[in-house]
Amino acid sequence: MKNSYDIAIIGSGAVGSSIAYHLSETKQKDILVIDKGFPLAGTSGSTQAWVWVHPKTPSWYGELNMYSAELYPILEKKIGDVEYRRTGGIAPFFSESDRKDALKLAEAQAEAGINIDVLSRKEVLEKEPALSPNIAGATFSQLDGNVNPFRLVELYIKAAKKNDVTFSFYNRVHDIQKRKDTFTIHTEKGEFAAKQLILAGGPWTKELGNMINITIPVKQVRGQILVTEPLAPLLKHTIGGIRQANNGEILIGYSKEEVGYDRRTDLDVIHDTANMAVQYVPDLAKANVVRCFSGIRVMPEDGLPIIGNLPGLENAFIASMHSGITLSPIVGTLMSELIFDGETSIDIQNYDIQRFEKMKA
Ligand SMILES: Cc1cc2nc3c(=O)[nH]c(=O)nc-3n(C[C@H](O)[C@H](O)[C@H](O)COP(=O)(O)OP(=O)(O)OC[C@H]3O[C@@H](n4cnc5c(N)ncnc54)[C@H](O)[C@@H]3O)c2cc1C
Repeated sequence: MKNSYDIAIIGSGAVGSSIAYHLSETKQKDILVIDKGFPLAGTSGSTQAWVWVHPKTPSWYGELNMYSAELYPILEKKIGDVEYRRTGGIAPFFSESDRKDALKLAEAQAEAGINIDVLSRKEVLEKEPALSPNIAGATFSQLDGNVNPFRLVELYIKAAKKNDVTFSFYNRVHDIQKRKDTFTIHTEKGEFAAKQLILAGGPWTKELGNMINITIPVKQVRGQILVTEPLAPLLKHTIGGIRQANNGEILIGYSKEEVGYDRRTDLDVIHDTANMAVQYVPDLAKANVVRCFSGIRVMPEDGLPIIGNLPGLENAFIASMHSGITLSPIVGTLMSELIFDGETSIDIQNYDIQRFEKMKA
């Protein structure tokens, strides 16, 4: 293995591996990806993996998610079947008073080209008969869906390897220095030099930032997910909180807890999550839950992605975000444009890390 590269990417989850793949398409750069674990050891291996667009606000952020969802079918043509399914997405509400907010959302998102229908109870139940008759209505968009995150990351890596990207797994980065125009990355398996550096460390990006004296304003937010036994087809759509995977398992949950990197699961949240599931889909009361897992969301302090250059450090970049499964195709595309052309086809000013400084001022 060489020890000098054009670009080093730290992190091989859905974000880092997408960037590696998109950058490698032209085969013009020598690229190294370093990961302290295996590719799905981080958040990308413990996610719901909805490709979720319609409720994302502000609408310019929803628009970015929509563009990414639009890229999935093209991505599949290039890297193979990642089990992307555009199921359409339903976000139910339980009180008539929520209808006003749903209509406001539909109006705001329409300006960004995101089509949302605000459905009555009858219309929702016609679309998704398994949902509870207690719901008052729902927002619906054909743009939403889901994907298999394991296949996604595996196929990005396979395609990137074909394009000569080097991967170094089980190799923790413990320090990064910059001298003149070269980054030296100190890892458990030795030192690597690179001209450009991309931080894609998911929830650990904050620690990577500390190594180069830059504060990355992200929090860690744990989410616990219940998984049922494989069931006969029950849900046709991706529902806010619940989805049925291709193998019949139903993944349930959207709990949020700020407990650092603690990935344990606990009975209280399992209980609440199971109750939520039955409230949405009464038939789930009969399903057996066969496992429960948790993942750590990387949550920028304002909830929006951090994408772009790192201030004061030429040739250093960051891609850190929640919704990294939905956004993975677009983020890989934009990072590749930024690095090759110095500009992006979509304005990414709103995602610049320097916005946090402006918020403080
Ligand atoms: C419960 C839950 C549900 C979610 N649901 C959805 C959803 O439905 N839709 C959606 O779009 N998103 C969802 N997300 C968010 C999404 O999963 C993440 O945004 C995405 O997986 C982040 O990918 P990533 O590549 O940035 O991070 P990761 O997958 O965590 O990858 C980062 C990698 O960096 C490596 N790394 C870190 N530090 C170092 C170091 N010092 N040295 C070397 N390697 C290092 C790690 O080992 C890791 O493999 C969910 C998240 C959770 C927790």
